[in-house]
Amino acid sequence: MSAPTAPTGAATREFPKPILVISECLEFEPCRYDGARIRFDLVKAVAPHVEYRPVCPEVQVGLGVPRDVIRLVASGDRNLLVQPATGRDLTGDMEGFAARHLDGLGEVDGFILKSRSPSCGPGHVKVFDQAESRHVIRRGAGVFADAVLERYGDLAVEDEGRLRNHRIREHFLTKLFALARLRDVAQGGRMAPLVRFHSAYKFLLLAYSERDLRQLGRIVANPGRERFEAVFAEYRSGFLRALGDTPRYTSVINVFQHISGFFRKGLSGGERAHFAELLGRYREGQLPASAIASLLESWAVRFGSTYILDQALFAPFPEALATPADSGKGRAAGRFVAR
Ligand code: SF4
Repeated sequence: MSAPTAPTGAATREFPKPILVISECLEFEPCRYDGARIRFDLVKAVAPHVEYRPVCPEVQVGLGVPRDVIRLVASGDRNLLVQPATGRDLTGDMEGFAARHLDGLGEVDGFILKSRSPSCGPGHVKVFDQAESRHVIRRGAGVFADAVLERYGDLAVEDEGRLRNHRIREHFLTKLFALARLRDVAQGGRMAPLVRFHSAYKFLLLAYSERDLRQLGRIVANPGRERFEAVFAEYRSGFLRALGDTPRYTSVINVFQHISGFFRKGLSGGERAHFAELLGRYREGQLPASAIASLLESWAVRFGSTYILDQALFAPFPEALATPADSGKGRAAGRFVAR
């Protein structure tokens, strides 16, 4: 007879692979206008855990490498994609490529796009008043990125510049891996996996938005006995809304306190005091959330609480992608983030 299996922590969890579209010049190909490839360590770190779909829109519309620079130029409310050296207006070509490419993409969970590119940059790209001018009159999204945002703006979409920020990166990864799990749930076509998903994301959702958590709970309860497809579509849209922005650190503290309540009776006075002290240090920004999450997880192992151990809050994405140190701009570091 084999020995009973002890509950284990988040480190052993398995994750479905997200499908991630990426600007091809980020580590994949030297396809920038100047023949460069951009180094970005996150791309390599994430590689074993995702399915990449690299694309270089400028190469795809027939521009060679190297090539003359292109830029966004204002035309009333529109931003045109122009190559000043040749006078070419590439806006129609790029819009056409973007539509065809996104039509043929199939399922996708997120995008990592090259910042500041007039094609790929999802925001803050310079828009000039004229093709040859140095005068920037506004900022906007690149033409390919604009089409991505129009269709997939509620998915995990970021540029590599913003992903260098710890807080933004962890929020992005949390959403990306949640979407991959939701895709798995959709493929099963049954309510039970959706109920299990909701149960596993309960505390993470509580940290993001208690109101959305309650609403999602009502959807998953399916009182109207609607078909799975209708329930799933409503749930997914509510889930994406809930994960629209990083959670507030005060909400994270509430969640940690709530979870500690599961173990209160089994803890000594010293352990409870230690927990309160750690929470205080987290509140002051002196301690990462991961330190408190690890303590709670160890209590869950000790008391055999598989319900707590199953919570995505403790491992929203593979542990290998968690960074040990804060960038200084996020209160929390490690496996969960907060503003
Ligand atoms: S930013 Fe986009 S269009 Fe420009 S080289 Fe990179 S992948 Fe190609």
